Amino acid sequence: MLRYLKEAGYSLLSIVKGLGVTAANARRKPVTILYPEVRPNLAPRFRGLPEVDMDLCIVCKMCEKVCPTQCILIVEKPRPAATEEADPEAPKTAKKKEASVFDINSALCMFCGLCEEACPTKPVKAIALHHNFEVAKASRDELVYGIEEEKVLAPANPPKGRGE
Ligand code: SF4
Ligand code: SF4
Repeated sequence: MLRYLKEAGYSLLSIVKGLGVTAANARRKPVTILYPEVRPNLAPRFRGLPEVDMDLCIVCKMCEKVCPTQCILIVEKPRPAATEEADPEAPKTAKKKEASVFDINSALCMFCGLCEEACPTKPVKAIALHHNFEVAKASRDELVYGIEEEKVLAPANPPKGRGE
């Protein structure tokens, strides 16, 4: 009988404790949001999908070399001389190479940001990890994006705090 009363007491105590936790949390604001209708507030230095601005890129391949998962593939080609002739300033300023392929496999990317760190372009990095985190696709092929995918090749607009 004593044992029964003891166990009943413990049960009652745990119910009261549980109700206490529920009551304390009922007054708090929810920490979840109704994604995707409500967008999350990302930190300024949040690392999402790497995006490349091909106008800034000098095709040095530093990002490809430094990437630990080898998810960047760049194939370079000489820049057509005709472009330089059309612009008198071109011999001094124009890039000597351009990329015929610039692919990033988002399935392999681990968002480490080393590509952005290694990119030598100043004051704005040609490759930067932007705020796009929605990388889910229906097939593996779609996880590789490249220079033809205009939607993921961002304008020179890195997140705040980047590109110094
Ligand atoms: S963030 Fe890291 S893993 Fe992703 S492309 Fe850049 S270097 Fe490679
Ligand atoms: S490191 Fe920068 S400039 Fe060099 S190839 Fe990559 S994106 Fe282009």
